[in-house]
Amino acid sequence: MSEVIIIGGGVAGLSASIFTAKAGLKTTVFDFGPSQITRVSSVQNIPGFPNGIAGTEWIEQAKQQATKFNVEIKNEKVTELMKNDDGSFEVKTENGSYQAKYVIVATNVQKELLEPFGFTTEVNSRVPNGKAKAIINIPWTGETEVENLYLAGLITEIPSQTVVVAGQGAAVGITIASKEKGEPFMWHDL
Ligand SMILES: Cc1cc2nc3c(=O)[nH]c(=O)nc-3n(C[C@H](O)[C@H](O)[C@H](O)COP(=O)(O)OP(=O)(O)OC[C@H]3O[C@@H](n4cnc5c(N)ncnc54)[C@H](O)[C@@H]3O)c2cc1C
Repeated sequence: MSEVIIIGGGVAGLSASIFTAKAGLKTTVFDFGPSQITRVSSVQNIPGFPNGIAGTEWIEQAKQQATKFNVEIKNEKVTELMKNDDGSFEVKTENGSYQAKYVIVATNVQKELLEPFGFTTEVNSRVPNGKAKAIINIPWTGETEVENLYLAGLITEIPSQTVVVAGQGAAVGITIASKEKGEPFMWHDL
């Protein structure tokens, strides 16, 4: 059983996974791709990449980084998300059924999995085309009214920019790691 299951291995989901795994939590990411960022041939606004980076390359590198920290990435589409009587979650895919204490939903435009939980969806006021819909009233930490269910990325009402989405995903990972450890989780590299 994973401690953390992340549904959606795009910008937010991969970023969150790196933090939960670094904190020592067994983390599994389910993704059937592609992330929206793979449509961009050269993302120019990420600090550290003065010449830009292709969206496909960014996702590939993020997957390698996550795998390095022991994140398990499964190329499976999640079809159902349920909360069990004991408080844990059950995640069903086309291939099987999986359990976890914490779930992060980072599926961007796909919101069907959340329908049983009754969240309110409205136009994302931070995306100017007026077409992107998001779950509203979710804090930066991704917490929801459902215990141990978190939302990350553009599924919440944040600006649609890679670096912002990655930052929010990281904040969600840190929030879960801190809750699980009972003290603020901070990552220091030597
Ligand atoms: C045309 C276009 C151009 C853009 N240009 C830029 C740009 O120039 N600069 C910039 O910073 N941002 C740009 N963006 C925005 C950027 O792509 C998004 O902000 C970012 O990808 C959102 O990250 P996310 O993690 O929320 O969603 P995504 O990165 O889209 O990841 C969501 C993932 O969830 C997976 N998923 C969904 N449902 C399921 C399920 N049931 N089971 C398993 N997996 C599932 C999907 O397959 C996908 O891989 C652009 C977006 C578009 C559409």
